[in-house]
Amino acid sequence: MGQYKLDDAEFGTIIISTRRGMKSIRSNVRNGAIELHVPTSIRYDELCKVIDDNRTKLRQMLAKSEETKLRYHEGQEINCLGGYTINICRQQRFPGKATFGSDTGNTLSVKIHTGMDFGDERVTSLISQCLKLLAKRIAASVLPRFAENIATEIGAKPAKFVIGGGLRKLGHCTAKGEIQLSCNLVFLPKHLAKFIILHELAHLTHFNHSPQFHNLLNQYCNGNEKILDSELKHFRWPVKL
Ligand SMILES: [Zn+2]
Repeated sequence: MGQYKLDDAEFGTIIISTRRGMKSIRSNVRNGAIELHVPTSIRYDELCKVIDDNRTKLRQMLAKSEETKLRYHEGQEINCLGGYTINICRQQRFPGKATFGSDTGNTLSVKIHTGMDFGDERVTSLISQCLKLLAKRIAASVLPRFAENIATEIGAKPAKFVIGGGLRKLGHCTAKGEIQLSCNLVFLPKHLAKFIILHELAHLTHFNHSPQFHNLLNQYCNGNEKILDSELKHFRWPVKL
């Protein structure tokens, strides 16, 4: 696998990733730049033709990624489970740094130095990291009880709940009936966090994703499984995936 960059008059830098034996050409956007996955054997003139033939599609793809790009702003409030709020604000004491912590009661904050730019991708990453660390704290104080109440409500008996850190995997149920939940669940609205927990609790009865599993889950969430599933897919996380 190789990688090089190509300068395009319209799109700026295009990242070309080559892979031997690859048959079709795929494209995506990475860090604001178009990335093309192409076979190693492709010639320069063929590559230029691919770009020219797909300008409309690439343009749309780039515009869409710009729209959905994670960006924070001063004064932003992120509501979390258990009535917690995280404020994004400024600090003047530590140049080039972000600080984070609890303010009062249920309010926490991430503060970046006044000299830092919210439009800078590195600042976005930094804030995202701080938010995830705060999510861990919030999760430790609210998630176990929140999950236990849901289990009681439906009469499920998990061995125990364990809070972890993943974002790709929001929940997991082990063969021993231990349910692992991501601390990032605190960023979800209450009903979606509950949906994830119900999903894992349904695995205590059906250790698969069979139609029986979905029947039970759908029953657990009053016939709203499909709606909740789609809402979850469209949820915009306030942290980097
Ligand atoms: Zn599952």
